[in-house]
Amino acid sequence: MMKKAAVKKSAMYTVDLTKIDGDGAFPCPKCGVIISPDDETEEVYQIIETKVKGDDLAELMILCNKCGSTIKLTGFLQQSEG
Ligand SMILES: [Zn+2]
Repeated sequence: MMKKAAVKKSAMYTVDLTKIDGDGAFPCPKCGVIISPDDETEEVYQIIETKVKGDDLAELMILCNKCGSTIKLTGFLQQSEG
């Protein structure tokens, strides 16, 4: 038996940047379009919210323009001890 999951209008995904290799570009979890932090054209994605801790970027909420998913980027701040 399967229950139908409640479907929201737009899904939200979380991407941890500390788990991404390379220059920080990653595929959209839903549609697979490559989202590059160096892309400032807003053709692929747009930034909808930024969270800052002190002077450092802590979280970024972006919207995939292709599929409309909201993607939360975490891992800007590396929690290192010592
Ligand atoms: Zn997408």
